[in-house]
Amino acid sequence: MTNSFHPPVRTLMGPGPSDVNPRILEALSRPTIGHLDPAFIEMMDETKALLQFAFQTSNALTLPVSAPGSAGMETVFTNLLERGDKVIICQNGVFGARMKENVERCGAEAIMVEDQWGCTIDVDKAERALRDNPDAKALAFVHAETSTGARSDAEVLCGLAAKYDCLSIVDAVTSLGGIELKVDDWGVDAIYSGTQKCLSCVPGLSPVSFSDRAAEVIRNRKTKVQSWFLDLNLVMGYWGSETKRSYHHTAPVNSLYALHESLVILEEEGLENAWRRHALNYQAFAAGIEALGLSFVVDEEFRLPQLNAVSFPASVDDARVRSALLNDYNLEIGAGLGALAGSVWRIGLMGFASNKKNVLFCLSALSNVLSDCGMETDSAKAIAAAQSIYCN
Ligand SMILES: *Cc1c(COP(=O)(O)O)cnc(C)c1O
Repeated sequence: MTNSFHPPVRTLMGPGPSDVNPRILEALSRPTIGHLDPAFIEMMDETKALLQFAFQTSNALTLPVSAPGSAGMETVFTNLLERGDKVIICQNGVFGARMKENVERCGAEAIMVEDQWGCTIDVDKAERALRDNPDAKALAFVHAETSTGARSDAEVLCGLAAKYDCLSIVDAVTSLGGIELKVDDWGVDAIYSGTQKCLSCVPGLSPVSFSDRAAEVIRNRKTKVQSWFLDLNLVMGYWGSETKRSYHHTAPVNSLYALHESLVILEEEGLENAWRRHALNYQAFAAGIEALGLSFVVDEEFRLPQLNAVSFPASVDDARVRSALLNDYNLEIGAGLGALAGSVWRIGLMGFASNKKNVLFCLSALSNVLSDCGMETDSAKAIAAAQSIYCN
């Protein structure tokens, strides 16, 4: 006989999933109803309005794709691109490379503009690429690179795309709910996010939003979207408000309760307050990390408050530290990814997990583990440095 699965209770301070608010887990366990039940449809309408609020947009084409962030990425590229199109991709980490994969699998051409990992996207290089490729259809980039902890200037990049008559495509999987994001003010044409990062919801859904201009491009395609499941022209038969809703696929009913609850929580807190909370907890954490003698990969100006890439001395055993944190403290932090594997940790302070208790807990656990591994650390000094930020 196989027993029921009972996961250990962890504190999730990696690159996602982040700690889920208990209110969201409770919402998830409410009774399942039909995905065309009038009560459910009412909740869908509220979810759409809440997503418009979270993205700061009035875009009619705003909905959660029934699959994780990667599917949101795929939805954007497969719906906007046709064979032979050209897309400029600014890459400064792992997720930009996935954009390239998506573009090429659509039969389109990816023009890569590469920046160093850990750096923000160079807007001058992006502009040069736009000038050199007047036939490009879109400019795509990652707002918050989770592989490095670097923030890029989405407002300026979207402005450049518009200036050169290109669509702007923004990966906001890690930015939504954690840092300033204003889809309409910034003129974003297509954006996708995820539920398991700063929304602190369960993994498995991907909010997306398209400007009217981008929606027009999708409606006027010459060829069918090659993915039946992600074809928004079909999905809109279920999520659209103009038509009577009809079956496309069975919506993940309970996961949508969870998303609804996470957005209600965000609305209660207020977007600006959520951004401020992420910034404050980052500042306290950074003060503590520096007091421990560790350093950041990204220049202060471009750091993401919700994802900290922390470098450690070569003498420190990466895997031993992470497994000691997990086994002895039930604390998950992330390993380095891609070019940064083995030389950094990625420590998330996302959504519900971005709080004072986690900041102080992580600093003291990390300090203890590092001193067990032979590094000289002063846990009291790190805690005091973090505390001093909260007392300001
Ligand atoms: C996590 C992440 C994704 C992928 O989201 P999944 O939900 O894991 O599919 C895409 N882009 C960025 C920047 C991410 O951090």
